[in-house]
Amino acid sequence: MKNFFLLFTVLFCFYSASAHSTIHEFYFEITLPTTYCPTNYEMRIQLKEIERFASIDVIEGEHLYVYVSARKRDALLDYLNSDPDLTYEELVPPSWREDPLITDKLNDLKFYALIGNWSRYPTYNNYVAFLDSMAKQYPQIASLIEMGKSVNGHQLLLLKIAANPNTSSIRPKFILSGAIHGDELVGSMILLQLIEYLLTNYSSNQRVRTLVDNLEIWINPIFNPDGSYAQGDDTVKGATRYNANGVDLNRNLPDPSAGEHPDGESWQKETVAFKKLLIEQKFIFAVDFHGGAELINYPWDTFQRLHADDNWYQSISRLYADAAQQSAGHNGYMTGGNNGIINGYAWYEVNGGRQDYFNYFEHTRAVTAEVSKTKIPHTTMLTTYFKYNLASILLLLEQVPRGVWGTVTDVRDASGIMASVEILNHDRDNSFIFSNLELNNFKQGGFYRPLIAGEYQFKISAPGYTPQIRQLPIPLPLPTRLDVQLTPVTPVDH
Ligand SMILES: [Zn+2]
Repeated sequence: MKNFFLLFTVLFCFYSASAHSTIHEFYFEITLPTTYCPTNYEMRIQLKEIERFASIDVIEGEHLYVYVSARKRDALLDYLNSDPDLTYEELVPPSWREDPLITDKLNDLKFYALIGNWSRYPTYNNYVAFLDSMAKQYPQIASLIEMGKSVNGHQLLLLKIAANPNTSSIRPKFILSGAIHGDELVGSMILLQLIEYLLTNYSSNQRVRTLVDNLEIWINPIFNPDGSYAQGDDTVKGATRYNANGVDLNRNLPDPSAGEHPDGESWQKETVAFKKLLIEQKFIFAVDFHGGAELINYPWDTFQRLHADDNWYQSISRLYADAAQQSAGHNGYMTGGNNGIINGYAWYEVNGGRQDYFNYFEHTRAVTAEVSKTKIPHTTMLTTYFKYNLASILLLLEQVPRGVWGTVTDVRDASGIMASVEILNHDRDNSFIFSNLELNNFKQGGFYRPLIAGEYQFKISAPGYTPQIRQLPIPLPLPTRLDVQLTPVTPVDH
């Protein structure tokens, strides 16, 4: 035990010495007066006060763990010191506690030899080189896309995986993203291995082939490279949650209840690039990978009331958690929250998060996958976490497009129409969708709406057209097709 404290002291001294160079965030344990209770209104107010300065990482009993940037550290301490009910202690941030192995910066070729091995975290250059090499090796099904650059000029990269683009005119688009919190690299390593898995198995594995032939899978392993490589491009030690400006990118988006700038910060370069991508690409489903807990978190984060599709969200989250538990041999993995799933607001309220932004502003279904209690696991565990999550990810890709899909077209010339597809007596809080997916040669007219089985009444409406109402049973497991032709209110060609 003594040795442990000595090690901890040495670590802390090293971390403190480094704090003067590139680090720009700090980590605190705050002890609340009583055990955290999500329905305790006064405690929620207190957490909101703390969140003015810091972002909550995790809550365990009465212990609250938060990050704070160098800019806001003094203000946080002033607040904590002013409240006699709160005690606190500064801790070494999680990313400084280990010395993770990283690919050899001098020899990029070594990294490629690690494919299928995954026993190192990549340097930034090797990360970029890996994605680039995958796109070059599999040009028929993979392409590398830069959505923009980070504050420090790192590339914000996505690998788009899709085959035979002409086989179906409407392809559901998925986006899987990791490390919006730069120090949560476990998800990034799962996504890099997923890229390798999908590309190398496409020609030989029918299940993978079906997915890649019918979906567009966009994978963004590291959304916040400035955070992941906060201490330099050749190390992930000291990776930060925040971006280079000390901003939590998962609090930096417009919020349905807290307004355009819920964190009081301007939209960061990463946020702007991401919003632009979402306007261009109409994703039907998104998964964000995080670390620090083991559970699937589903909407809302900002509203206490439930999402209109709460039953669907619970079923898809349950599916993920059950498969992950099974893949892990029921060793206790992915059992956080309610046996592996939790409603966001019931866990702790988040404003400006990506999950709610997707749902409310983009009409995209989205969940958050917390895939490891350790944010930067030992490199011997990197393949293990991939194995724990692969079956779950494949199931999501297969099952999310079930529900209803189809087209909305103009009765006169069959051109696609961007209409709203709303379920009467069901939808609320922007849970309706638009028929804005590419259809034939048109930029709109197609739609996909994930749903659980049931009887639904759809209202399809667009400006200038007479709305239509369709009653439709949605049996599962196959998606049900719904094609609607709308008639203009005042025909022009009579
Ligand atoms: Zn996170």
